[in-house]
Amino acid sequence: MFFYFRRRRRRPANTPEIERMRSEAQRILPPRLQELARQHGFTYHQLRIKHNVSNWGSCSVKGNINLNLHLVRLPAELQDYVMLHELCHLREMNHGPKFHALLESVCPDHRKRAQALREYKLY
Ligand SMILES: [Zn+2]
Repeated sequence: MFFYFRRRRRRPANTPEIERMRSEAQRILPPRLQELARQHGFTYHQLRIKHNVSNWGSCSVKGNINLNLHLVRLPAELQDYVMLHELCHLREMNHGPKFHALLESVCPDHRKRAQALREYKLY
């Protein structure tokens, strides 16, 4: 029983609500990521829509971007911020000065958006 509880907390169940968010995410996130990549000259390999409680998005060294389906709960400018953040990791894998300079160039108010994003919890 305890084990089951822990598993549920790590990997939330596929409730109808999650499935609804997943289809919305699959409808709106891929075209938006493509548009932002085109606008700023980024090339990524593959986009996957994921359901997890550890991050809004991630980027692999192979150039794959993962976006959390919970992004659909956010206002559009915060969705864009997460996508731009992950696109910048295609060129700078860490959070060093070069990464921040790049992020600043594609999203000048990224600090304000990062602050606003902290108001939203992943669950
Ligand atoms: Zn990052």
